[in-house]
Amino acid sequence: MAEQWIYLDGQHVTKENAKVSVYDHGFLYGDGIFEGIRIYNGNIFKCKEHLDRLYDSAKSIQLNIPLSKDEMLEAMAETIRLNEMRNGYIRLIVSRGAGNLGLDPLRCAKASIIIIVEQLAIYPEEAYLTGLKTISVSQRRNIPDALNPKIKSLNYLNNILVKIQSNYAGVGEAIMLNSQGYVTEGSADNIFIVKNGVLYTPPCYLGALEGITRNAIIDLCAELGYTLKEQPFTLHDVYVADEVFFTGTAAEVIAAYEVDGRTIGSGVAGPVTLELLAEFRKIVDQDGYKVWQD
Ligand code: PMP
Repeated sequence: MAEQWIYLDGQHVTKENAKVSVYDHGFLYGDGIFEGIRIYNGNIFKCKEHLDRLYDSAKSIQLNIPLSKDEMLEAMAETIRLNEMRNGYIRLIVSRGAGNLGLDPLRCAKASIIIIVEQLAIYPEEAYLTGLKTISVSQRRNIPDALNPKIKSLNYLNNILVKIQSNYAGVGEAIMLNSQGYVTEGSADNIFIVKNGVLYTPPCYLGALEGITRNAIIDLCAELGYTLKEQPFTLHDVYVADEVFFTGTAAEVIAAYEVDGRTIGSGVAGPVTLELLAEFRKIVDQDGYKVWQD
């Protein structure tokens, strides 16, 4: 198998040699930010949107990224070329860097940048037709005035606790509510419901990441002539929806066929979900940055 090259602070190193300090505040405290990005047919899908979100997250947590956006893009493209990757997943990580054991980020001299590119197969293709069995979890989404979910931070313990609960229940994805009981998002994706031909997705201020796939689906809905409403809804609305689906870079567009024991629609991925998935897959190698010029 060909060597996997990882970008680590300006150098490309092998997977075995890609090591960071135990004093790195990303490791000690989840102090840092990241992006998960897909490359389809040599195209970094929604590259600008991902870089914008990364730099916005950095600004929000007052983290100085030692590369400009253009330099970051070049580092990403170089890593992709080195790994001869045309289809896969890119993980962009910026941690606060090595400091001391104290919390103070001023002790961290320089942010650390890591770029990993890998193959990705999160769900088997048949899951896109059958959908996923899901539950709602008791774990509430981080409240925005404590740690705003709009910041794509390295602190994913809230989401990991959801994964633990969904593993225990033996389901593929879970729905998180906010502290007022409104639906927010999945463990690593946004959520939509369809009722009587109208689509609904929670506004991000309720406590959700502003997903780039979510925004792409909102744009597709407009192009396809669907009415889409960003408005708060509850689990009741999810239970009685005709279709429920999740969106995310890794998951793309995937249905839930069951939520908390309630069958959704006809118990398989519904027509709107499948249409949006098909339309989404048509644009993923168009809209972004082409790494390979052939
Ligand atoms: N919510 C959370 C918590 C996530 O981790 C992700 C994955 N990045 C998403 C939503 C979906 O966002 P995107 O479409 O930008 O991947």
